[in-house]
Amino acid sequence: MRTTQFPLNTVKETPADAEIASHQLMIRAGLIRKLAAGLYTWLPLGLRVMRKVEKITREEMEKTGALEVLMPGLQPAELWQETGRWEQYGPELARLKDRHDRDFCLGPTHEEIITDLARNEIKSYKQLPITYYQIQSKFRDEIRPRFGVMRSREFIMKDAYSFHLDHESLQVTYEAMHQAYTNIFNHLGLNFRAVIADSGSIGGAVSHEFHVLADSGEDAIAFSTDSEYAANVEKAESVMPIGTRGSATEALTLIDTPNQHSIEEVCGFLNIPATQCLKTLIVKGEEDTLVALLLRGDHNLNDIKAIKIDGIASPLEFASDEQVGNACNCKPGSIGPIGLNIKIIADRSVTLMSNFVCGANQDDKHYKGVNWERDLPVPDHIADLRMVVEGDPSPDGKGQITLARGIEVGHIFQLGTKYSEAMKAGVINEGGKNQIMTMGCYGIGISRVVAAAIEQNHDDKGIIWPTNLAPFQVALCPMNMHKSERLKEASEKLYQDLLAAGIDVLFDDRKVRAGFMFSDMELIGIPHCIVVGDRGLDSGTVEYKARTAEANEEIPFADIIDFLK
Ligand code: ATP
Ligand code: MG
Ligand code: MG
Ligand code: MG
Repeated sequence: MRTTQFPLNTVKETPADAEIASHQLMIRAGLIRKLAAGLYTWLPLGLRVMRKVEKITREEMEKTGALEVLMPGLQPAELWQETGRWEQYGPELARLKDRHDRDFCLGPTHEEIITDLARNEIKSYKQLPITYYQIQSKFRDEIRPRFGVMRSREFIMKDAYSFHLDHESLQVTYEAMHQAYTNIFNHLGLNFRAVIADSGSIGGAVSHEFHVLADSGEDAIAFSTDSEYAANVEKAESVMPIGTRGSATEALTLIDTPNQHSIEEVCGFLNIPATQCLKTLIVKGEEDTLVALLLRGDHNLNDIKAIKIDGIASPLEFASDEQVGNACNCKPGSIGPIGLNIKIIADRSVTLMSNFVCGANQDDKHYKGVNWERDLPVPDHIADLRMVVEGDPSPDGKGQITLARGIEVGHIFQLGTKYSEAMKAGVINEGGKNQIMTMGCYGIGISRVVAAAIEQNHDDKGIIWPTNLAPFQVALCPMNMHKSERLKEASEKLYQDLLAAGIDVLFDDRKVRAGFMFSDMELIGIPHCIVVGDRGLDSGTVEYKARTAEANEEIPFADIIDFLK
């Protein structure tokens, strides 16, 4: 490809709303353009990268024997009503009506649709097990779309669904998918961990998430220094007493509101080291602000007298250990979330406060006035929530817990019969009886993977693509080619030779300064750069620079293709 025919859309300006490196770089390198909040167009360069993620994913899916299908994004409400999710899903589900006033939604996921397909197409146990997958657009009206394509409202997901006669068969496919996911993320060259996860609104019992490790990740994950144990902190087990630590997490779930300020911002307000904080929640109401933090380790909260968020100062109240113990039926002095201050989640109409008290990891000092709606039942599983702290012994007895931040790029679930039961998706079993199928589902955030890869691989000059994700492998940059006929000929020939050798090369044949070319190629992250100039022609050499190397190397002109292969 030539840059005169494949224009690079690089820009100097970093958009004001781009908070993290990948978002900034995806705009600057010309991979995406914003249409509206959480909606992005993929430009040719960005799409080339996303197609590589799709290709690797598809290859691994095919290896497992999964069959590709393509389901509509527009889904009739009736199917969602059958499973009860039409009511349960909440405002993230983008609902609409057709011209006949019938209800539809834009699919955030496809369990209902695939289960409908399966109950019609699969009649006999002999057709099982079977796995379908698709790579397709999903729609989620995220409360706070942010970080570019990392959390957008329309995104590309690979979703797969498996159908089985029994749980043993599901287990086999689940393990195969776990392995396929491991292969995919290895192939993509990402530093990732598979972690035990909560299955959230999708349902089911067993579930794993795949996280790309990056400081900007929205999830905290805990893993052992000496074993395979790894879990999303929300699910992680700990030997520490639990105190009230469930409450902030639960508040997060109940009001379904992601972080609205960065952890650094909140910790700045509170004078707490940001590294101590696993998760923050700030919900701005019409009059008041709720702040909840999940903190790890020891910290001195003596200095905190008030918090000030967006100009509103709120005094803190303290409670004694005894009060805390009574209020929340827990051991005093435990490490837990501190929940500060009161009130309002306007759009979810939670207004009644119960003056809930939280542990603050300090003798006799616990914050009162944590937001909790009086009528809201405390869910049973709150007692099971555990918070893990750095240095804890690993629950499997091997090694200690280390905490890291992760970006959720994949999620696999054992659904069991949740959807098949509700939608009566059965087959005739060997005994001639109808038997409800057992299901699994498996997602990868294809478009999010691109952003996650950049988050993990960049420097101050731009993106550093892992080889298998790079939009082009080699950049060919001639210096002042437009002033030298001889150089032009040599560059054209080298370009043709590289193509003939099967090397994916981007020939920068623009009439621009060499420095301009280099900074573009570095910004868009091409792994290998070859510079040809008149001087090199004289001495029979080209300059070669790897994206990650400090200095250039001289390579004989005749050897460059073998060198690159
Ligand atoms: P998150 O916790 O980040 O909101 P999720 O748990 O809601 O994600 P799943 O329902 O598990 O997402 O969907 C499968 C995958 O789709 C996720 O692992 C993630 O990679 C991707 N994904 C989910 N929501 C978004 C989004 N808004 N933008 C981009 N990718 C997303
Ligand atoms: Mg989500
Ligand atoms: Mg999640
Ligand atoms: Mg998930």
